[in-house]
Amino acid sequence: MDTNINAIIIGLITIGLVTILTVMSYSFEDISRRKKKRSYDIVLGLTEGAVVVISMILVQHIFKSLNAGSSANWFYATTQMTLLLYSLYTMKNAVIEFVNIIAPLYIFGHHLFEGNLSFNIIFVLALIAMAITVSYIAHNKNNLLNDEWKYMALQIIYGGIWWLIIWPLYRFTLLEAVYILIGFVIYMALIRYVARWVRDSFNNYNDMSEKVNYDELTGVRNRANFDDVSAEVYKVYSRDKDVPLTMAMFDIDHFKQFNDNYGHMAGDKVLHHVASDFERQLFKKTTRGQLFRYGGEEFVIIFRGLTDQDAVGIIKEIQTEFISQPLEYNGNELSIRISFGVSQLQPSDRNIDDLFKRVDHYLYESKESGRDRITVEDETFTFG
Ligand code: GH3
Ligand code: MG
Ligand code: MG
Repeated sequence: MDTNINAIIIGLITIGLVTILTVMSYSFEDISRRKKKRSYDIVLGLTEGAVVVISMILVQHIFKSLNAGSSANWFYATTQMTLLLYSLYTMKNAVIEFVNIIAPLYIFGHHLFEGNLSFNIIFVLALIAMAITVSYIAHNKNNLLNDEWKYMALQIIYGGIWWLIIWPLYRFTLLEAVYILIGFVIYMALIRYVARWVRDSFNNYNDMSEKVNYDELTGVRNRANFDDVSAEVYKVYSRDKDVPLTMAMFDIDHFKQFNDNYGHMAGDKVLHHVASDFERQLFKKTTRGQLFRYGGEEFVIIFRGLTDQDAVGIIKEIQTEFISQPLEYNGNELSIRISFGVSQLQPSDRNIDDLFKRVDHYLYESKESGRDRITVEDETFTFG
């Protein structure tokens, strides 16, 4: 009875630890992807390694207190093995590989000094086999995770090596070893199920926070929303050749100088000013235009049911009004100029990207011809 309760407690604790390890591993990956710095990766890697080691020590202490001093039972070993192997699968991290390889040395290394030659030989061989197995798993993770049988085979090899190390010390029977291995495989399968569930919930949450449709700084629609909307719009407008679709892209001229001359806050202010002014004026002129912040100081407008000439008319009006109300920043009047590229969807466009690339190229032509200009279907004009 007591044993069952202990098993349940340990099971729950293991699941808790696995959840923490999973969330940590995915958060760290996210940070590492955004920062792209080697120094960050090293710190994150060491932190992950430390958390795994602390988890194992924690499990060791819990077992000792539950089993009145004895940590030498199969369930204990299985739990430790599960944590180690699980970390190896979830964390992209050389520290974890290292921890996995030296764990047997840490736990049973002291027996090496007892003068038992056969134990020593088995131990060294097992450590070598462990190093090979661990690095194989670390470098073939994805392959293994997609192949149930290979995954299970590697679990058995991994567990087998551990039992090879433990066997000379505890001399359990072959049948016991088989039971224990089966237990380990089932335990790992359960853990993997929990881990997948945690990972999927976590990824969904990340997607949600990334895909919120509005840009924080400017309040207009963001890049993720542009990707969704433009793909959707293309589907509809490429079907009906009689209804036009036009895209405009604009980029603030020498924007970097606002940052350099007045500071990053001024740059943010300029972005906010441009976005909100364009959004407001666009809405006054047509309900068929949608403004997106594509990234940095680049914006896109999608005009549904309007030709390139309609769009140019609207843009010119907005631009004239925009110029007439300059932004003040700390007593300085900031002269903001903008370059545009405009193009209409053609029957030859195979996807929205064909249109996008053309618009992007026209914007580039406006920049090349001296900025503060608009290029429509390969023809560049100045304003005014
Ligand atoms: P060009 O006329 O060729 O477009 O020159 P530019 O200076 O506008 O363009 P460049 O691409 O050289 O510089 C864009 C700068 O915008 C670089 C980047 O630091 C800054 N930037 C990007 N996003 C933000 C932001 O959200 N806030 C601020 N303040 N600056 C940003
Ligand atoms: Mg710019
Ligand atoms: Mg730019």
